[in-house]
Amino acid sequence: STQDRKRVMCLMSDTGGGHRASAQALKDGFEVLYGNYFDINVVDLWSSSSPWPLCNMPKSYFFLVKNPWLWRMSFRCSEPEVLHEALFTGYTAIVGRRFAQAFEDYKPHLIVSVHPLMQHVPLKVLSRMKAAVSFTAAKVPFTTVVTDLTRCHRTWFHKDVDKCFVATQLVAAQAMNAGLTSNQLSCHGLPIRPAFNLPSKPKDEICDQLGIDSAAPTVMLIGGGEGMGKLEATAEALAKTLSSSHQLIIICGRNIKLAEKLSSRAWPLRVLVKGFVNNMSEYMLACDCIITKAGPGTIAEALICGRPILLNGFIPCQEEGNVSFVLDNGVGSYSEMPEEMADIVADWFRGDRQELINMSRRAKLLGRPEATFDIVRELSGM
Ligand code: UDP
Repeated sequence: STQDRKRVMCLMSDTGGGHRASAQALKDGFEVLYGNYFDINVVDLWSSSSPWPLCNMPKSYFFLVKNPWLWRMSFRCSEPEVLHEALFTGYTAIVGRRFAQAFEDYKPHLIVSVHPLMQHVPLKVLSRMKAAVSFTAAKVPFTTVVTDLTRCHRTWFHKDVDKCFVATQLVAAQAMNAGLTSNQLSCHGLPIRPAFNLPSKPKDEICDQLGIDSAAPTVMLIGGGEGMGKLEATAEALAKTLSSSHQLIIICGRNIKLAEKLSSRAWPLRVLVKGFVNNMSEYMLACDCIITKAGPGTIAEALICGRPILLNGFIPCQEEGNVSFVLDNGVGSYSEMPEEMADIVADWFRGDRQELINMSRRAKLLGRPEATFDIVRELSGM
Protein backbone atom coordinates (compact mmCIF):
# COMPACT_ATOMS: atom_id res chain seq x y z
CA SER A 1 0.00 0.00 0.00
CA THR A 2 1.03 3.63 -0.37
CA GLN A 3 1.62 3.87 3.35
CA ASP A 4 4.34 1.24 3.30
CA ARG A 5 6.10 2.88 0.41
CA LYS A 6 9.20 4.94 1.03
CA ARG A 7 8.36 8.57 0.39
CA VAL A 8 10.77 10.73 -1.59
CA MET A 9 9.99 14.43 -1.84
CA CYS A 10 11.52 16.06 -4.87
CA LEU A 11 11.75 19.85 -4.61
CA MET A 12 11.78 21.77 -7.86
CA SER A 13 10.55 25.00 -9.37
CA ASP A 14 9.21 25.28 -12.84
CA THR A 15 11.81 27.63 -14.24
CA GLY A 16 12.75 26.19 -17.60
CA GLY A 17 12.14 22.67 -18.87
CA GLY A 18 15.37 21.44 -17.33
CA HIS A 19 14.38 21.29 -13.68
CA ARG A 20 11.05 19.63 -14.35
CA ALA A 21 12.71 17.22 -16.78
CA SER A 22 15.36 16.33 -14.16
CA ALA A 23 12.73 15.71 -11.50
CA GLN A 24 10.82 13.54 -13.96
CA ALA A 25 14.01 11.68 -14.84
CA LEU A 26 14.65 10.80 -11.20
CA LYS A 27 11.04 9.75 -10.66
CA ASP A 28 11.18 7.51 -13.74
CA GLY A 29 14.57 6.18 -12.66
CA PHE A 30 13.13 5.11 -9.29
CA GLU A 31 10.25 3.39 -11.07
CA VAL A 32 12.46 1.55 -13.57
CA LEU A 33 14.80 0.28 -10.85
CA TYR A 34 12.45 -0.30 -7.92
CA GLY A 35 8.92 -0.45 -9.33
CA ASN A 36 6.42 0.63 -6.70
CA TYR A 37 8.72 0.55 -3.71
CA PHE A 38 9.16 4.34 -3.64
CA ASP A 39 6.54 7.03 -3.82
CA ILE A 40 8.02 10.09 -5.50
CA ASN A 41 6.30 13.40 -4.90
CA VAL A 42 7.54 16.21 -7.13
CA VAL A 43 6.58 19.60 -5.65
CA ASP A 44 7.08 23.17 -6.69
CA LEU A 45 7.01 24.80 -3.25
CA TRP A 46 7.44 28.29 -4.70
CA SER A 47 4.25 28.01 -6.73
CA SER A 48 2.14 25.79 -4.49
CA SER A 49 3.16 26.84 -0.97
CA SER A 50 4.12 30.48 -1.28
CA PRO A 51 1.98 33.59 -1.10
CA TRP A 52 2.18 36.27 -3.77
CA PRO A 53 4.67 37.59 -4.92
CA LEU A 54 6.88 34.60 -4.22
CA CYS A 55 4.58 32.19 -6.02
CA ASN A 56 5.19 34.28 -9.12
CA MET A 57 8.90 33.60 -9.03
CA PRO A 58 8.80 30.99 -11.78
CA LYS A 59 7.06 33.54 -13.99
CA SER A 60 9.50 36.31 -13.08
CA TYR A 61 12.27 33.96 -14.09
CA PHE A 62 11.00 33.82 -17.67
CA PHE A 63 10.71 37.58 -17.72
CA LEU A 64 14.24 38.03 -16.43
CA VAL A 65 15.78 35.43 -18.70
CA LYS A 66 14.30 37.10 -21.77
CA ASN A 67 16.06 40.29 -20.69
CA PRO A 68 19.65 39.06 -20.47
CA TRP A 69 21.20 42.07 -18.74
CA LEU A 70 18.54 41.95 -16.02
CA TRP A 71 19.12 38.26 -15.52
CA ARG A 72 22.90 38.71 -15.42
CA MET A 73 22.44 41.38 -12.77
CA SER A 74 20.09 39.26 -10.67
CA PHE A 75 22.37 36.24 -10.97
CA ARG A 76 25.55 38.09 -9.99
CA CYS A 77 23.96 40.26 -7.32
CA SER A 78 22.53 37.27 -5.52
CA GLU A 79 25.83 35.35 -5.47
CA PRO A 80 27.49 36.82 -2.36
CA GLU A 81 26.66 34.68 0.63
CA VAL A 82 25.72 37.52 2.99
CA LEU A 83 23.22 38.73 0.46
CA HIS A 84 21.42 35.53 -0.34
CA GLU A 85 21.53 34.52 3.32
CA ALA A 86 19.62 37.69 4.18
CA LEU A 87 17.18 37.13 1.35
CA PHE A 88 16.57 33.53 2.33
CA THR A 89 16.02 34.45 5.97
CA GLY A 90 13.39 36.89 4.74
CA TYR A 91 11.76 34.28 2.52
CA THR A 92 11.76 31.78 5.36
CA ALA A 93 9.83 34.20 7.52
CA ILE A 94 7.21 34.47 4.80
CA VAL A 95 6.93 30.90 3.56
CA GLY A 96 8.24 28.94 6.56
CA ARG A 97 4.89 27.74 7.90
CA ARG A 98 3.60 26.65 4.53
CA PHE A 99 6.79 24.79 3.69
CA ALA A 100 6.69 23.12 7.11
CA GLN A 101 3.09 22.13 6.46
CA ALA A 102 4.11 20.54 3.14
CA PHE A 103 6.78 18.47 4.91
CA GLU A 104 4.41 17.59 7.72
CA ASP A 105 1.71 16.46 5.30
CA TYR A 106 3.91 14.25 3.20
CA LYS A 107 6.36 13.04 5.88
CA PRO A 108 9.16 12.26 3.43
CA HIS A 109 11.84 9.66 4.16
CA LEU A 110 14.19 11.47 1.82
CA ILE A 111 14.30 14.94 0.26
CA VAL A 112 15.88 15.59 -3.11
CA SER A 113 16.23 19.14 -4.37
CA VAL A 114 16.77 19.77 -8.08
CA HIS A 115 16.64 23.56 -7.92
CA PRO A 116 19.17 26.22 -6.87
CA LEU A 117 16.54 28.01 -4.75
CA MET A 118 15.47 24.88 -2.92
CA GLN A 119 18.36 24.36 -0.49
CA HIS A 120 18.53 27.23 1.96
CA VAL A 121 14.89 27.88 2.75
CA PRO A 122 13.81 24.21 3.02
CA LEU A 123 16.86 23.42 5.19
CA LYS A 124 16.12 26.37 7.47
CA VAL A 125 12.52 25.23 7.79
CA LEU A 126 13.57 21.65 8.50
CA SER A 127 16.01 22.67 11.19
CA ARG A 128 13.32 24.73 12.89
CA MET A 129 10.96 21.79 12.74
CA LYS A 130 13.67 19.69 14.32
CA ALA A 131 13.92 22.25 17.12
CA ALA A 132 10.15 22.12 17.57
CA VAL A 133 10.24 18.29 17.40
CA SER A 134 7.08 18.39 15.33
CA PHE A 135 8.05 15.31 13.40
CA THR A 136 11.25 13.43 12.75
CA ALA A 137 12.36 16.01 10.19
CA ALA A 138 15.76 15.96 11.81
CA LYS A 139 16.52 12.52 10.48
CA VAL A 140 15.29 13.04 6.94
CA PRO A 141 18.32 13.07 4.65
CA PHE A 142 18.47 16.14 2.42
CA THR A 143 20.15 15.87 -0.96
CA THR A 144 20.78 18.13 -3.93
CA VAL A 145 20.98 17.04 -7.54
CA VAL A 146 22.65 19.89 -9.41
CA THR A 147 21.22 20.21 -12.91
CA ASP A 148 23.81 22.53 -14.40
CA LEU A 149 26.82 21.23 -16.32
CA THR A 150 29.35 24.00 -15.81
CA ARG A 151 28.84 27.32 -14.01
CA CYS A 152 26.53 26.98 -11.02
CA HIS A 153 24.91 29.64 -8.89
CA ARG A 154 26.22 29.62 -5.29
CA THR A 155 22.79 28.81 -3.91
CA TRP A 156 23.02 25.31 -5.41
CA PHE A 157 25.49 24.46 -2.64
CA HIS A 158 24.67 24.15 1.02
CA LYS A 159 27.13 22.75 3.55
CA ASP A 160 24.45 20.90 5.50
CA VAL A 161 23.26 18.60 2.74
CA ASP A 162 23.83 14.89 3.19
CA LYS A 163 24.74 14.47 -0.43
CA CYS A 164 25.23 16.70 -3.44
CA PHE A 165 25.18 15.07 -6.88
CA VAL A 166 27.07 16.91 -9.60
CA ALA A 167 27.38 16.23 -13.32
CA THR A 168 30.98 17.23 -13.99
CA GLN A 169 34.32 17.67 -12.20
CA LEU A 170 34.00 21.38 -12.94
CA VAL A 171 30.89 21.56 -10.78
CA ALA A 172 32.46 19.35 -8.10
CA ALA A 173 35.27 21.91 -7.80
CA GLN A 174 32.75 24.74 -7.34
CA ALA A 175 30.94 22.74 -4.68
CA MET A 176 34.21 22.27 -2.80
CA ASN A 177 34.94 25.98 -3.07
CA ALA A 178 31.55 26.58 -1.50
CA GLY A 179 32.62 24.48 1.48
CA LEU A 180 31.31 21.01 0.69
CA THR A 181 33.65 18.10 1.38
CA SER A 182 34.50 15.40 -1.13
CA ASN A 183 32.52 12.77 0.75
CA GLN A 184 29.38 14.86 0.38
CA LEU A 185 29.85 14.79 -3.40
CA SER A 186 29.02 12.25 -6.08
CA CYS A 187 29.69 12.81 -9.76
CA HIS A 188 27.55 10.69 -12.09
CA GLY A 189 26.37 13.09 -14.78
CA LEU A 190 23.09 14.90 -15.34
CA PRO A 191 19.85 13.03 -14.55
CA ILE A 192 18.32 12.30 -17.93
CA ARG A 193 15.05 10.49 -18.54
CA PRO A 194 15.59 6.69 -18.69
CA ALA A 195 14.29 6.55 -22.28
CA PHE A 196 17.73 7.82 -23.30
CA ASN A 197 19.30 4.71 -21.80
CA LEU A 198 16.90 2.04 -23.05
CA PRO A 199 17.92 -0.13 -25.98
CA SER A 200 16.57 1.80 -28.92
CA LYS A 201 14.64 0.64 -31.93
CA PRO A 202 16.52 0.74 -35.26
CA LYS A 203 16.73 4.24 -36.73
CA ASP A 204 14.61 3.27 -39.77
CA GLU A 205 11.78 2.13 -37.56
CA ILE A 206 11.88 5.30 -35.43
CA CYS A 207 11.91 7.49 -38.54
CA ASP A 208 8.96 5.61 -40.02
CA GLN A 209 6.93 6.17 -36.89
CA LEU A 210 7.80 9.86 -36.69
CA GLY A 211 7.19 10.49 -40.37
CA ILE A 212 10.83 11.30 -41.04
CA ASP A 213 12.80 10.31 -44.14
CA SER A 214 15.60 8.16 -42.71
CA ALA A 215 17.83 8.62 -45.77
CA ALA A 216 17.85 12.45 -45.79
CA PRO A 217 20.56 14.36 -43.89
CA THR A 218 18.57 15.75 -40.99
CA VAL A 219 19.04 18.76 -38.69
CA MET A 220 16.96 19.21 -35.56
CA LEU A 221 16.32 22.69 -34.22
CA ILE A 222 15.34 23.05 -30.52
CA GLY A 223 15.00 25.95 -28.11
CA GLY A 224 14.76 24.28 -24.70
CA GLY A 225 11.45 23.43 -23.11
CA GLU A 226 10.08 26.87 -23.90
CA GLY A 227 11.10 27.14 -27.53
CA MET A 228 13.50 30.03 -26.94
CA GLY A 229 16.11 31.49 -29.27
CA LYS A 230 15.93 32.47 -32.90
CA LEU A 231 14.12 29.38 -34.09
CA GLU A 232 12.31 31.08 -36.94
CA ALA A 233 15.23 33.04 -38.37
CA THR A 234 17.44 29.96 -38.09
CA ALA A 235 14.89 27.77 -39.85
CA GLU A 236 14.68 30.34 -42.66
CA ALA A 237 18.46 30.46 -43.07
CA LEU A 238 18.68 26.67 -43.10
CA ALA A 239 15.93 26.47 -45.70
CA LYS A 240 17.86 28.89 -47.90
CA THR A 241 21.27 27.26 -47.58
CA LEU A 242 20.56 23.53 -47.40
CA SER A 243 19.41 21.66 -50.48
CA SER A 244 15.98 20.15 -50.98
CA SER A 245 17.42 16.71 -50.18
CA HIS A 246 18.00 17.79 -46.57
CA GLN A 247 15.43 17.57 -43.83
CA LEU A 248 14.65 19.83 -40.91
CA ILE A 249 12.89 19.01 -37.64
CA ILE A 250 11.83 21.99 -35.54
CA ILE A 251 10.81 21.36 -31.94
CA CYS A 252 9.09 24.44 -30.52
CA GLY A 253 8.46 23.04 -27.03
CA ARG A 254 5.74 24.94 -25.19
CA ASN A 255 5.94 27.79 -27.70
CA ILE A 256 2.69 26.76 -29.40
CA LYS A 257 2.27 30.01 -31.31
CA LEU A 258 5.59 29.51 -33.03
CA ALA A 259 4.75 25.89 -33.83
CA GLU A 260 1.53 26.97 -35.51
CA LYS A 261 3.24 29.73 -37.43
CA LEU A 262 6.07 27.56 -38.70
CA SER A 263 3.91 24.60 -39.65
CA SER A 264 1.58 26.74 -41.74
CA ARG A 265 4.42 27.87 -43.99
CA ALA A 266 5.62 26.35 -47.26
CA TRP A 267 9.25 25.22 -47.11
CA PRO A 268 11.65 24.36 -49.94
CA LEU A 269 12.81 21.23 -48.07
CA ARG A 270 11.18 18.59 -45.87
CA VAL A 271 10.28 20.31 -42.59
CA LEU A 272 8.60 18.69 -39.63
CA VAL A 273 7.34 21.15 -36.99
CA LYS A 274 6.43 19.93 -33.53
CA GLY A 275 5.27 21.57 -30.30
CA PHE A 276 6.30 19.90 -27.07
CA VAL A 277 7.34 16.29 -27.66
CA ASN A 278 7.62 13.67 -24.96
CA ASN A 279 9.77 11.30 -26.98
CA MET A 280 12.82 13.53 -27.37
CA SER A 281 15.14 10.50 -27.36
CA GLU A 282 13.51 9.24 -30.56
CA TYR A 283 13.78 12.61 -32.27
CA MET A 284 17.44 12.82 -31.26
CA LEU A 285 18.12 9.42 -32.78
CA ALA A 286 16.23 10.32 -35.93
CA CYS A 287 18.40 13.36 -36.70
CA ASP A 288 22.10 13.70 -37.54
CA CYS A 289 22.87 16.85 -35.56
CA ILE A 290 21.07 19.42 -33.47
CA ILE A 291 20.95 23.19 -33.18
CA THR A 292 19.97 24.42 -29.73
CA LYS A 293 20.55 27.02 -27.07
CA ALA A 294 23.08 25.87 -24.49
CA GLY A 295 20.60 24.14 -22.16
CA PRO A 296 22.28 21.52 -19.98
CA GLY A 297 19.50 18.95 -20.43
CA THR A 298 19.50 19.11 -24.20
CA ILE A 299 23.31 19.01 -24.36
CA ALA A 300 23.53 15.97 -22.06
CA GLU A 301 20.85 14.18 -24.08
CA ALA A 302 22.54 14.93 -27.40
CA LEU A 303 25.84 13.58 -26.04
CA ILE A 304 24.22 10.31 -24.97
CA CYS A 305 22.72 9.97 -28.45
CA GLY A 306 26.03 10.89 -30.08
CA ARG A 307 24.65 13.94 -31.88
CA PRO A 308 26.94 16.90 -32.67
CA ILE A 309 25.63 20.16 -31.28
CA LEU A 310 25.56 23.58 -32.89
CA LEU A 311 24.85 26.04 -30.08
CA ASN A 312 23.08 29.25 -31.03
CA GLY A 313 22.77 31.07 -27.72
CA PHE A 314 22.79 30.71 -23.98
CA ILE A 315 21.09 32.05 -20.88
CA PRO A 316 23.60 34.48 -19.31
CA CYS A 317 25.74 33.08 -16.48
CA GLN A 318 24.43 29.59 -15.90
CA GLU A 319 24.61 28.44 -19.53
CA GLU A 320 27.67 30.40 -20.60
CA GLY A 321 30.12 27.72 -19.50
CA ASN A 322 28.22 25.12 -21.52
CA VAL A 323 29.44 26.79 -24.68
CA SER A 324 33.11 26.21 -23.88
CA PHE A 325 32.21 22.74 -22.61
CA VAL A 326 30.88 21.84 -26.07
CA LEU A 327 33.71 23.56 -27.97
CA ASP A 328 36.56 22.29 -25.77
CA ASN A 329 35.31 18.72 -25.99
CA GLY A 330 35.09 18.89 -29.78
CA VAL A 331 31.44 17.92 -29.92
CA GLY A 332 30.04 20.93 -31.71
CA SER A 333 30.26 24.55 -32.68
CA TYR A 334 28.85 27.95 -31.75
CA SER A 335 27.25 30.74 -33.73
CA GLU A 336 24.53 33.27 -33.07
CA MET A 337 23.98 34.23 -36.70
CA PRO A 338 21.41 32.23 -38.65
CA GLU A 339 23.31 32.43 -41.99
CA GLU A 340 26.52 31.29 -40.34
CA MET A 341 24.71 28.47 -38.56
CA ALA A 342 23.31 27.28 -41.87
CA ASP A 343 26.80 27.34 -43.43
CA ILE A 344 28.26 25.36 -40.54
CA VAL A 345 25.61 22.66 -40.81
CA ALA A 346 25.89 22.56 -44.62
CA ASP A 347 29.63 22.04 -44.15
CA TRP A 348 29.09 19.19 -41.69
CA PHE A 349 26.96 17.38 -44.28
CA ARG A 350 29.37 17.89 -47.18
CA GLY A 351 31.49 15.06 -48.66
CA ASP A 352 32.40 12.14 -46.44
CA ARG A 353 31.06 13.93 -43.32
CA GLN A 354 34.23 13.03 -41.43
CA GLU A 355 33.97 15.95 -39.00
CA LEU A 356 30.36 15.10 -38.19
CA ILE A 357 31.32 11.47 -37.60
CA ASN A 358 34.23 12.41 -35.34
CA MET A 359 32.14 14.82 -33.28
CA SER A 360 29.46 12.18 -32.97
CA ARG A 361 31.98 9.64 -31.64
CA ARG A 362 33.38 12.11 -29.13
CA ALA A 363 29.85 13.01 -28.01
CA LYS A 364 29.03 9.36 -27.39
CA LEU A 365 32.17 9.00 -25.26
CA LEU A 366 31.29 12.06 -23.21
CA GLY A 367 27.65 11.11 -22.60
CA ARG A 368 26.62 9.63 -19.26
CA PRO A 369 23.65 7.36 -20.03
CA GLU A 370 23.86 5.66 -16.62
CA ALA A 371 23.74 8.90 -14.61
CA THR A 372 20.09 8.73 -13.57
CA PHE A 373 20.37 5.13 -12.42
CA ASP A 374 23.63 5.74 -10.55
CA ILE A 375 22.05 8.71 -8.73
CA VAL A 376 18.86 6.79 -7.96
CA ARG A 377 20.82 3.79 -6.63
CA GLU A 378 22.72 6.03 -4.24
CA LEU A 379 19.57 7.87 -3.17
CA SER A 380 17.73 4.65 -2.50
CA GLY A 381 20.53 3.57 -0.17
CA MET A 382 19.94 6.66 1.94
N1 UDP B 1 12.20 18.95 -24.03
C1 UDP B 1 11.25 17.97 -24.31
N2 UDP B 1 10.34 18.21 -25.30
C2 UDP B 1 10.34 19.36 -26.01
C3 UDP B 1 11.30 20.35 -25.74
C4 UDP B 1 12.23 20.11 -24.75
O1 UDP B 1 11.22 16.92 -23.69
O2 UDP B 1 9.49 19.49 -26.89
C5 UDP B 1 13.15 18.69 -22.96
C6 UDP B 1 14.55 18.46 -23.45
O3 UDP B 1 14.68 17.13 -23.94
C7 UDP B 1 15.35 18.75 -22.20
C8 UDP B 1 14.53 19.86 -21.53
O4 UDP B 1 13.23 19.80 -22.11
O5 UDP B 1 15.38 17.63 -21.35
C9 UDP B 1 15.12 21.23 -21.77
O6 UDP B 1 16.15 21.40 -20.86
P1 UDP B 1 17.38 22.35 -21.12
O7 UDP B 1 18.23 22.23 -19.90
O8 UDP B 1 18.05 22.03 -22.40
O9 UDP B 1 16.78 23.82 -21.29
P2 UDP B 1 15.73 24.66 -20.41
O10 UDP B 1 14.42 24.53 -21.10
O11 UDP B 1 15.75 24.09 -19.02
O12 UDP B 1 16.22 26.07 -20.43
